[in-house]
Amino acid sequence: MQPIAHPKVTPAKNEPGRVTRPFNFSAGPATMPLAVLQRAAAEMCNWHDANGKPSGMGVMEMSHRGKAFGSIVQHAEASLRRLLLVPEEFHILFMQGGGLAQNAIVPLNLCGPAPGKPAVDFVLTGSWSQKSWQEAAKYSAPHIAASAQESAFHDIPDPATWQLSAGARYVHICSNETIHGVEFQSLPDLRALGSEAPLVVDFSSHVASRPVDWSRVGLAFAGAQKNLGPAGLTLVVVRDDLLGAALDICPSAFNFKNIAANASMFNTPPTYGIYMAGLVFDWLEQQGGIVAIEARNIEKAALLYQAIDASDLYFNPVNPGCRSRMNVPFFLREPALESAFLQGAEQAGLLQLKGHKSVGGLRASIYNAMPLEGVQALVAFMRSFERTRA
Ligand SMILES: *Cc1c(COP(=O)(O)O)cnc(C)c1O
Repeated sequence: MQPIAHPKVTPAKNEPGRVTRPFNFSAGPATMPLAVLQRAAAEMCNWHDANGKPSGMGVMEMSHRGKAFGSIVQHAEASLRRLLLVPEEFHILFMQGGGLAQNAIVPLNLCGPAPGKPAVDFVLTGSWSQKSWQEAAKYSAPHIAASAQESAFHDIPDPATWQLSAGARYVHICSNETIHGVEFQSLPDLRALGSEAPLVVDFSSHVASRPVDWSRVGLAFAGAQKNLGPAGLTLVVVRDDLLGAALDICPSAFNFKNIAANASMFNTPPTYGIYMAGLVFDWLEQQGGIVAIEARNIEKAALLYQAIDASDLYFNPVNPGCRSRMNVPFFLREPALESAFLQGAEQAGLLQLKGHKSVGGLRASIYNAMPLEGVQALVAFMRSFERTRA
């Protein structure tokens, strides 16, 4: 067997074997923990099991029905359940299609089995919840229970003011708006608001960055490419009693009941993505789990928001009570300096800081895998840019 050439590494403090790389603030696909990439690289051509027994195959070459991959998917699922404290009555599904496909797959699964378009409630807090609301109209009668549009999506409407429909099939929220940078700091308690409907949560861009109160959730979904691994994998966590309400037209391969009954193997799941997510979960456990990573995320976000708020050049328009810890949009009071900022940042090894085209400005996505030093380097660059330009 050919020996595997490992990537050249320059050890640095805190993270043994750290390669010197630029800091990537992309909103997604996003930066990965380097240790995960290195482990995947080392195992690329010959995966070995927990006892060190080589399989003679790379993970992407394995049958999804084989013993080796079976152990990989079981490990990933068990790790996630442990990390996020997912209760037994919830199924963990690994799917394809990304977050956007779930905007159709969720109503296709929850709006039957009788034909017709039942009411579904939406809380609009930014681009992503708006997209979900628009797509749902094909399969349901979507109702806007609350919208933050008037505040230009810089706020989250107080749940006490939501106009929830009687008999809605579900209530949809996006718990972290990746573009507008607003995040629910706690999930709404629908029962306390007088609704019996299950809460559906798009947690694509902050999954695994903080604990989840599953007692308030019916279903949560996430595309993987922000906080879990490579694009192509979609995570769905769904409570058992919500299975079996699919519309007839729901594609079999997207029917949660089929997927749950077949342990995510109704058809070929995104095997390599599941493997990579499993490595990310291992890494999260090594970091001390979700509570420890949350504490780091709080520290990173506080550092960046404090630097923005203390400056005369930068500002963030979001109500401080609902600012995202993961996606920090910010703007220059002199927008003409934007391209100089981006150019200087890139030269300083700070990549992908351009804001989303729909809102403009700048955005730093600081997911789990962004180390504190990355945020420190960004803040240092912002200060020096302000000193020399403003
Ligand atoms: C990125 C993102 C999505 C879309 O994911 P795709 O995988 O591109 O379909 C959906 N919701 C949120 C909140 C996101 O950040």
